[in-house]
Formats: sequence, C-alpha cells, structure tokens
Amino acid sequence: MTMGQLPVETLSFRPEDETLRAEIRAWMAANDPGAPPEDFEQRLAALLAWQQKLHGAGYIGLSWPERYGGSGLDLRAEAVFSEELATTGMPELINRIGVYMCGPTIMDFGDEGQAERYLRPMLDATESWCQGFSEPEAGSDLAAIRSRGRVDGDRIIINGQKVWTSRAHIARRCACLVRTEPGSERHHGLSLVIVDMEDPGVNVVALPQMLGERHFNEVFLDDVEARVEDVIGGLGNGWAAAMRMLSYERGLFVLERQIRLRRALDELADRMLESGRASERGVRERLGRIHTGLELLKAQGYRTLAGQAADDLPAGSTSIDKLHLSRVEQDLFATAVDLLGPEVALTYNQWTHDLLEGRSVSIYGGSTEIQLNIISKQLLGLGASR
Ligand SMILES: Cc1cc2nc3c(=O)[nH]c(=O)nc-3n(C[C@H](O)[C@H](O)[C@H](O)COP(=O)(O)OP(=O)(O)OC[C@H]3O[C@@H](n4cnc5c(N)ncnc54)[C@H](O)[C@@H]3O)c2cc1C
Repeated sequence: MTMGQLPVETLSFRPEDETLRAEIRAWMAANDPGAPPEDFEQRLAALLAWQQKLHGAGYIGLSWPERYGGSGLDLRAEAVFSEELATTGMPELINRIGVYMCGPTIMDFGDEGQAERYLRPMLDATESWCQGFSEPEAGSDLAAIRSRGRVDGDRIIINGQKVWTSRAHIARRCACLVRTEPGSERHHGLSLVIVDMEDPGVNVVALPQMLGERHFNEVFLDDVEARVEDVIGGLGNGWAAAMRMLSYERGLFVLERQIRLRRALDELADRMLESGRASERGVRERLGRIHTGLELLKAQGYRTLAGQAADDLPAGSTSIDKLHLSRVEQDLFATAVDLLGPEVALTYNQWTHDLLEGRSVSIYGGSTEIQLNIISKQLLGLGASR
C-alpha cells in the first residue's frame, strides 16, 4: 500500500441522515444540561445522567444492531450524532471507550454470550469500560507487555500492572491485554480478557496530573480472577482483537474533536475582530492555517469513516488522522495563548487549560513518532527491505 493507493471515498449524507440531524439538533436545544459542575464527583454524576438521557432519547448505539439495544442504523447516523454533539457544544459520552471501542470490538471478535452480557449496560453507562493495554515497559512497544494470565480450567488468574488507564476509577469493566501463553513472545500468546474492576485483586491508583484533574490511573492486578469465556476473540488471539480496538479509537473521535476545535477557532477569531487585530496579516495567516488544517482533518475523518463503513480501511491509514489531529490541536491552542497575550497566558482559564491538555494529544493512542513510523512503513513502504 502506498499513499497513491489510499481510497478516495468519502462519507456523504443522505436525506434521511439530514432528517436525523435536524431531529438531534432540536433535541439538544431542548435538553441542554448546562455547564458541568466544578466539583469532580458532581461532574461525574452529571455526565452519567447525560449519557442516560441521550440513551433514553435513543441516540446511543445508533449503528448497533437492535438486538443489542442499538437502533440498527449505520455509521453515517453515528457520524451525524457525533457532529451534532460537538456542534451544539454538549458534553461527550462518559462511556465513550465502551460505546465506541470495546462494544464494536466485542461485536467483531467476541461471541454471542459476551455480546448478550456486556453490550447493553455500555449504552446507558450502567457499566463503564476502560482499556488496559499500556504497561510501565510497554507503551509504544505494546507487544512487550508482561502482565500474565494463568489459565486454570475455566478461570484465568491475572497478575501484572497497567498504566495510564483512562477512567479506570469509574470503570466497571476493563478490556485487559495479558500474556496467557507461557513462554510466548511479542504479539503471540496474548489474550484480550474482560476484567471485572470490582474484583478484590484490582487496585486503581490515581496518577497526579498537572491540571489537577483525574483522568488516568495505574491499575495493579494481583491474582485477579477472570473467566476464559470472557476472552474476546478466544485465547491467544489478543493481538488481533487489540489492534481492532485501536482502529476504533479514530474515526468518530476525530470527527467530533475537529468540530470542538473549530468552535475554539471561531471564538479566537471573534476575539481578534473585537480587539482590532484581525486586520493584521500575520494574525490572518495564522488563523487561516489552522482553519485549513481543520478542513483537512474533517476530510480525512470522513474518508476514515467511509473506509470503516466499507470494512476497507488500509492498514495504517488512521495514523494520518491521529498525526494531523495532534498538529492542528497543539497549533490552535499555542496560537490562541500567544495572540491573546499575557493576561490570558499567565492565568488559568479555558485557553491555558486546553493548551496544557493538548500536550497529551501527541502521546495518547500512539505517539507522534509512532504514527510517523507507521505511515512510513505501512503506507509508504519505506524500510521494508531493511
Ligand atoms: C491522556 C492519555 C490517556 C491514555 N489512556 C490510555 C488508556 O486508556 N489505556 C492505555 O492502555 N493506555 C493509555 N495511554 C497510554 C498511551 O497509549 C501511551 O502513553 C503511549 O502509547 C506511549 O507510550 P509510553 O507512554 O510508554 O511512552 P514510550 O513508549 O516509552 O515512548 C517515549 C518516547 O519515545 C518515543 N518512541 C518510543 N518508541 C519509538 C520508536 N520506535 N521510534 C521513535 N520514537 C519512539 C515515543 O514517541 C515517545 O516520545 C494514555 C496516554 C495518555 C497521555
């Protein structure tokens, strides 16, 4: 696969998608939950109530089959929902890891029993999920994971440690990648096991963050008991299942994120107009560059979704989405803080918050360097002969 062979299909919306869009937009206007509470616990409760309300309105799992509690529509409907959520500035889903990543992976790789047990509670967030992949010695090099699962009859006893596990502190389930085949190496002998976070052997420890928020954690696994029937894709097939889950980390997320960034850019442009700086050539060039970046991000997001819908996504192509998102997001908030001047730069506010938070975009879901490696190897075919 080379860049020239990348598919050019893009997502186009049908009249029924636009009808759904209008319906969702009207619903959002009538059901705005207002600004999130300052207090952390109250904010979590508000986000939970928000997803439950969206679920009650029938908007969670639009592309999921009806037998699993979804609406039986397709990815276009899901894209419309994500776009409207962001366009109207509404909070994101508290269980987005479950709904957009773990659920689809269970539908692709899991069995009917797992689907029956785990899918519906994801939709109304009665069971939130987290993704237990990274470990202290296995981040970019995920195949180096050392957490072990000892198969004992119909049980798996898990020992090890995960790190940077987003939302583990509110999760009831974890999709946990462990080595179940003794003596296996790299991507062989791994299994993706569903772990109950209420097992007494699970210990979740918050990692301090510079913004004072609680997003990710260390997860210590000490004789945690899981079931062989809860291995997604069967024993030894963890690598393929994990890669599929990672592919779901892009697509809808990028589409929603670029709209939230667009809202920030519009606000920055308004501030430049108010201050009279919009007539400066340098300012216009910088804002224009970010605008162009966002347009490209949207086009790439649609292309990725079209590929996902057709189950024809070239290996490595979503690395373009991730790489580009990192660049545009970091450029936007660095530009904003620079243009808005010391009053903004030297205080804590939404702009400085987003600038600092944006540092993580080039790390989570695979760092920028790793995306460049993937693009050069898998899409450009470089380094193949070495
Ligand atoms: C906000 C946030 C949320 C996250 N949430 C989760 C989660 O829910 N679940 C989960 O499992 N993980 C999560 N992660 C972890 C994330 O996937 C890892 O941080 C990421 O894969 C990088 O791994 P690492 O931190 O171990 O860095 P390392 O792999 O140690 O990399 C350190 C540096 O070396 C560079 N590097 C490493 N290898 C190469 C190479 N071959 N070529 C060139 N450069 C290289 C990297 O680019 C990086 O700059 C999250 C991270 C963040 C920041």
